[in-house]
Amino acid sequence: MRPPVFRIDASNADPRYGKIVWAPGKSIWINSCLITFIFSIPFATTLSAVVVFSLLTYTTLLIGHSLGAHRKLIHRTFDCSKWLERTLVYLGVLVGMAGPFGLVRIHDIRDWAQRENQCHDFFAHRYPFFRDALYQLNCTFEFEQPPKFRLEDEIAADRFYQFLEKTWILHQLPLALILFLIGGWPWVVWGTFGRVFVSVFGHWTVTYFTHNPGPGTWIIPAAGVQASNLPGLGFITMGECWHNNHHAFPESARIGINANEFDPGWLVLDSLHRFGLVWNVGVPRDESLREDLEIAA
Ligand SMILES: [Zn+2]
Ligand SMILES: [Zn+2]
Repeated sequence: MRPPVFRIDASNADPRYGKIVWAPGKSIWINSCLITFIFSIPFATTLSAVVVFSLLTYTTLLIGHSLGAHRKLIHRTFDCSKWLERTLVYLGVLVGMAGPFGLVRIHDIRDWAQRENQCHDFFAHRYPFFRDALYQLNCTFEFEQPPKFRLEDEIAADRFYQFLEKTWILHQLPLALILFLIGGWPWVVWGTFGRVFVSVFGHWTVTYFTHNPGPGTWIIPAAGVQASNLPGLGFITMGECWHNNHHAFPESARIGINANEFDPGWLVLDSLHRFGLVWNVGVPRDESLREDLEIAA
């Protein structure tokens, strides 16, 4: 089994107490994308722009976010060369959600809070849909007693990731310029502003429903928040909809574990494995190591 990654020191922390505060940077960024997109749609919509939007959104979320950021950088579920890792992570940064360190921190703090036996409603996504959207897309959480977060040296000392962390929003510019030169303003409106908003909002939507009650095979009795699967959404979520499996087996690069759980991210990873580009691919740990799990009734 691949060794688990621990980046949170929670000795003096409590995930129940704190307040939700406005985060100007992320709020202004995502609302600028939304407003520019909405008001440009009537005069900047072409068929080619919508096709470019669909292809770029899907590719950056699948290859960049699901494989690069989530399965590789955050969970270290497979090994590959540094150049491939950096390429995947770069595509993940192009999604427009955060820099590489920010992505790991946001994920790990939420995941830690959910695995404690109680946590604040913000981490459990207990608010109604639009209120949770408002909070999660525009705000951050200020703990009364915050956990300590420490990135492993391999990531923290990487000069390329340090550069991306400082400049992540700016990496939309070269892509937007290429889009403008080929397809004019409609390609920028759909391929940059529309893509970033839809990706970030779509990511949050999947996060919202997968951390609210729903179907799933596994229960983690010690955790205050159980994860759900969203059957039928394997294609559109790049396999991330099998989130109940993911909470049970964070060490596994394969999230759709059963034959009927379609996982496009796994299909890509499996092909890369066949070509020898990735190796040591994580799978669900042995049954003898599942004392923390129960099977749902
Ligand atoms: Zn995860
Ligand atoms: Zn989760």
